[in-house]
Amino acid sequence: MKIRGRLIIAFLIITAFPSFLMSVCFNFILSNQSALLEESYQSKTSASNILLNPIQILYTITQQDYEDLVALAEDRPDQLLDKEYLAQASEVLQQRDSFLIIRRNGKDYFVGNQTLYESLDTLPGFGGYTRGASTMLFLDPSIPGLIKSKDFYFSNHDQGQLFLITDLTRLLPQWKRSIQELLLCLLGILLVTACLLILWVYNSIVKPLNILRIATMQIGAGNLDYPVQVNSTDEIGELCQDFEEMRIRLREMINARIRYDEDTREMISNMAHDLQTPITSIKGYAEGILDGVANTPQKQEKYVRTILTKAVDMSYLIDELSVFAIVEKNSLPYHFIPLSLKEYFSDFLEDTRLDLETLNIHLEYFNTTAEDTVVLADPEQLKRVLNNITGNVVKYMDKQEGLVTLRITDGDGEPDSQNAAEYVCIELTDNGSGIAAQDLPHVFRRFYRGDISRNSSRRGSGLGLAIVERIIHDHGGRVWAQSTLGQGTSIFFTLKKQDKQDDAAERGMEYGKNTDH
Ligand code: ATP
Ligand code: MG
Repeated sequence: MKIRGRLIIAFLIITAFPSFLMSVCFNFILSNQSALLEESYQSKTSASNILLNPIQILYTITQQDYEDLVALAEDRPDQLLDKEYLAQASEVLQQRDSFLIIRRNGKDYFVGNQTLYESLDTLPGFGGYTRGASTMLFLDPSIPGLIKSKDFYFSNHDQGQLFLITDLTRLLPQWKRSIQELLLCLLGILLVTACLLILWVYNSIVKPLNILRIATMQIGAGNLDYPVQVNSTDEIGELCQDFEEMRIRLREMINARIRYDEDTREMISNMAHDLQTPITSIKGYAEGILDGVANTPQKQEKYVRTILTKAVDMSYLIDELSVFAIVEKNSLPYHFIPLSLKEYFSDFLEDTRLDLETLNIHLEYFNTTAEDTVVLADPEQLKRVLNNITGNVVKYMDKQEGLVTLRITDGDGEPDSQNAAEYVCIELTDNGSGIAAQDLPHVFRRFYRGDISRNSSRRGSGLGLAIVERIIHDHGGRVWAQSTLGQGTSIFFTLKKQDKQDDAAERGMEYGKNTDH
């Protein structure tokens, strides 16, 4: 979930969750309180009234008693002069924290609670209320009370007044306790909500950021193996994923760099060794001539020829190294021209076949492409590719009867490829020593030499196939190898065909007229 979504949810949680919990708690506490009120004062009230209209509750507490007294005042007013009755009524009222006052002709006839009565300021006289009966709230700072009154006449026409007074000091603490409980609940709910939110935010934002921070420190300290594992899909999760990809790429780059450095070191030591061997021979033979060891013209010729062969070997090695240096710098000068496959390979076969035959390697040639197939290539560099591959055929031939097959077919070597018509595939298969399975994936790596080659007397720097790969890649093709140890090796590469609709004038530049490039 995105951070925006989380913020919306957080907002909803902050508002909805406490509201819901609050309403549940309010309901519970208020219902409880109203049940208590009912139990204590036999007064029915709705839970919400406790908060919204507490005066209403106070009013209802003595409502029934008040109505009974009013009915009595109207029907049998003289009973309100019966002190025994009044004392009984007072007792009942006491349970509701209330008391009764009866006045006759303005004078107190009965006072249910003298102490409270004295603390009351004044009570209205007869007719003080317009309709003769009323309820009023008397809020004295020391004794707040609720007063209900009724004016009436006794049977002898004496003026009568009854007052039913409820002591609010006893009731207000209960109301206060309800409010306190509610506030405590509110506080608890807010605390719980805040904790949940903090936990959520911590897990989804702070935790991954911490992981990222530690990973950054690890990478800073050079440890590129410390993985960043965060499963979230929000922006921070994406950042962590990008970071992880960056770490992997960085590690690959550094590993490639280390491998390259190792390869270079190994190559330099191989080169030093490969150059040292012919130089030692040249030195030995030259000294032999100078010291007169080669004392016959035949011996002298043999020595000079050996010196020449060794010098040629060295020049080959130095040449390959310099080509590789150019290839590495990406500055090999290409001159792409349309080449007729048929003509180009006829010339190649003419040059190579004889050389191979002298080494007892027979060359077979198959070309199933159309006569007029033209590829776009640099003939010089293509020659280098073919020479490197056939050079390997010769170098790694271990059979008495060597056989190498050059096969040219249409297609890019992939069975179901869409681009098959655009490419030709060139395959050179030999029946030489073959490449061990563990070496095969690496033969195109620069400076890589198979175990067998490294431990044999066959010279080489491991650059031949790396150069092949680079040149073919620069031609827009690809190269790969198949091999079975002991049976032989196939090297395949593809070249892009020249479009048949292309300018005929360009055809004039076909191989044969441009060999100077
Ligand atoms: P260089 O070509 O630079 O003189 P090299 O021949 O050892 O040295 P590559 O041509 O790049 O290097 O070949 C890499 C490795 O692949 C060789 O060392 C060898 O082990 C293996 N290899 C390549 N071609 C063949 C082949 N035709 N038969 C057997 N092994 C081969
Ligand atoms: Mg080679």
